[in-house]
Amino acid sequence: MDVYGLLGNPVEHSLSPPMHEAAYDHLGIDARYVTFEPPADAARQAVESAATLGLTGLNVTIPFKQDVLAAVDPDDLAARIGAVNTVDFGTDPPAGHNTDATGLLRALEHHDVALDGRAVVVGAGGAGRAAAFALAGEEMTVDIANRTLESAVDLAAEVTAANIGGSATAHPLDALTGLLDGADILVNATSVGMEADRSPVPREALHAHLAVLDAVYTPVETRLLREAETAGARTIDGAWMLLYQGVEAFERWTGRDAPVGVMDDALRTRLG
Ligand code: NAP
Repeated sequence: MDVYGLLGNPVEHSLSPPMHEAAYDHLGIDARYVTFEPPADAARQAVESAATLGLTGLNVTIPFKQDVLAAVDPDDLAARIGAVNTVDFGTDPPAGHNTDATGLLRALEHHDVALDGRAVVVGAGGAGRAAAFALAGEEMTVDIANRTLESAVDLAAEVTAANIGGSATAHPLDALTGLLDGADILVNATSVGMEADRSPVPREALHAHLAVLDAVYTPVETRLLREAETAGARTIDGAWMLLYQGVEAFERWTGRDAPVGVMDDALRTRLG
């Protein structure tokens, strides 16, 4: 039996075990997906222990995504982002990937969103970094707006210096209205909308030409998405990004096409 796992703290309410196990059951793969909560300073040790114990793959979430880098051989995208959320133990050292970034692109593609033109990313934390590098890697021009301007400035400089096709520019949050004029894609990569019914984007800045992806998935229907829909924009909820980061991990680990519909059902049943 293959064993996969999730490294995080906390992981009690993670939706990854049911999503992945639904895929194993559907395809008749003899595997289980379990969660691990090591101490916050034990990322490296946890990955080494998982390798010793013979795990096939690990997902990684808060607070370990950055620290795990030291225990794996990251691919270029994960190294640029500075975070790994998927570890593949098929090699020594294990390979590290960032499927938040590729999952975001696949979520957009699933909704027929063209990956060209100009994207606005709100947020410069983990999800913001993944979104900015992913979209710039598609040769898009990326505007990054963040509450802490310095983080956006640093990220934009890193994205542009990476020379991956697209460039990035940093802005304060109060520039959003002007930035969204003529933009093609908007990604909310802040946590705003999770705890309270708030949106990080002024409602009047939203328009029908936009495709709006909200990384927040609890709740699935955020205020930003409701207001974007009212403005006539295409909307993509955070469960799509969560789904496709899992799909990408599953396909890397197993070498098989993921049963996307089955994984989606498992996820959305639990998200309500
Ligand atoms: P993070 O690294 O802690 O970054 C948080 C971001 O939110 C920062 O840019 C922060 O700005 C901003 N922020 C927080 N509170 C704010 C406020 N009150 N007003 C304006 N900006 C605020 O977190 P993360 O890992 O990037 O996660 C961000 C969100 O994405 C979370 O909701 C997470 O669940 C979601 N996410 C979803 C997926 C998915 O698969 N759907 C994957 C990853 C993350 P400052 O820099 O100024 O603090």
